[in-house]
Amino acid sequence: MTTAGPAAGHRADLEARVDALLAAHDPATTERQAFLDARYDAGLAWVHVPEGHGGLGLPRALQPVVDDRLGAAGAPDNDPRRNGIGLGMAAPTILAFGTPAQQERLLRPLWTGREIWCQLFSEPGAGSDLAAVATRAIPDGDRWRVTGQKVWTSSAHLADRALLLARTDPDAPKHRGLTYFALDMRQPGVEVRPLRQLTGEAEFNEVFLTDAVVDDADRLGDVGAGWQVANATLMSERVAIGSGAAREAGMLGVVADAWRTAPSGHRTADAHQRLLRLWVESEALRTTGMRLAQKLAAGAPGPEGSAMKLGFARLAQQLSSLEVELRGDDGLRYDDWTLRRPDQVDMTGRDTGYRYLRAKGNSIEGGTSEVLRNIIAERVLGLPSEHRVDKDVAWKDLPR
Ligand SMILES: Cc1cc2nc3c(=O)[nH]c(=O)nc-3n(C[C@H](O)[C@H](O)[C@H](O)COP(=O)(O)OP(=O)(O)OC[C@H]3O[C@@H](n4cnc5c(N)ncnc54)[C@H](O)[C@@H]3O)c2cc1C
Repeated sequence: MTTAGPAAGHRADLEARVDALLAAHDPATTERQAFLDARYDAGLAWVHVPEGHGGLGLPRALQPVVDDRLGAAGAPDNDPRRNGIGLGMAAPTILAFGTPAQQERLLRPLWTGREIWCQLFSEPGAGSDLAAVATRAIPDGDRWRVTGQKVWTSSAHLADRALLLARTDPDAPKHRGLTYFALDMRQPGVEVRPLRQLTGEAEFNEVFLTDAVVDDADRLGDVGAGWQVANATLMSERVAIGSGAAREAGMLGVVADAWRTAPSGHRTADAHQRLLRLWVESEALRTTGMRLAQKLAAGAPGPEGSAMKLGFARLAQQLSSLEVELRGDDGLRYDDWTLRRPDQVDMTGRDTGYRYLRAKGNSIEGGTSEVLRNIIAERVLGLPSEHRVDKDVAWKDLPR
């Protein structure tokens, strides 16, 4: 069926632009990074982003027109999993709160993968209660000096830049004394130490900041408005973590395969029922994810992202448990306990034991399931909010 109207016009235009890109930069002979730069310049990096920043200001739903055509031509992609925090969290934040100069400077290296990003939010005393961050940023001319400790920082060992939430006004109540920056991770004063996880790997780190500097030009949003900026990042994070898989792909695809190949003794009626239920829930989550991505593209992400992230974590844990059962003894084996520092989380490429253990973190990272339930209760269902006594007290006077 041919679709008439503006969407069809956009589609034809995009196809022509992709063909022009391929004609000018043969993927077989063009170096990967050069191809990605050319794609960015052609506005085909992320079509929903404004012109001049790698996009064309078109609906996000048209991106597959570009990706499919480039993929079929064997063109290199920017491997979104390598810079998950950059693409999933930093980019939407910079687009929403960055000045034109910041967008010009930060978005290209982010999309092309020249600059990998991490997220310096959590601290030993500020995880679920993120507004409690104690890392201080003190003004120093046209810069800020940053000192404090961050924790659980995924990819910090690979990162060139970080989304940093820091306290700039200890006299203000905790939500109002925060400011948000894009910090250069490759500078003296930034020390990254690995933290080993349940899987044996060290995906994340402790980060010690000692008099690290950040230019005021790298501040995202107003001084004291860091909480609002951080919330935008968190909403994007929940959508980025909770959505993305195609139908019967991801964990569900792995477990469906485990079912098909499981010894007959493991293929019980009960296991079948559970698989079907999880299949239906995965589909519900996938379609909810599509709707949320559209809301996000329209600039109106809602607290529903919390429900999706909650559902994603629950499903991942239930699916990985079912897979262990279906694989029997093999499901308990683990491939490698040596300390590794992976550059991405690979839930489908590894073995059953890895998936089972790694999925435990899904209900903690990006907001714990308990806290997401609170958000849903308060902001979606309109239930009475948690009792908070520290809202109007200066941060410096709060007990720690
Ligand atoms: C794999 C992984 C990767 C991560 N990557 C990053 C990263 O890149 N950058 C970053 O900044 N952080 C990262 N984190 C940190 C993560 O966001 C925090 O661990 C998380 O927000 C929880 O904070 P916390 O660990 O301080 O636990 P706490 O906040 O101390 O919570 C402890 C327990 O109490 C519960 N709880 C706390 N408050 C409430 C409440 N009000 N109501 C009900 N229950 C409550 C929690 O749900 C939890 O079960 C990562 C974590 C993991 C596991």
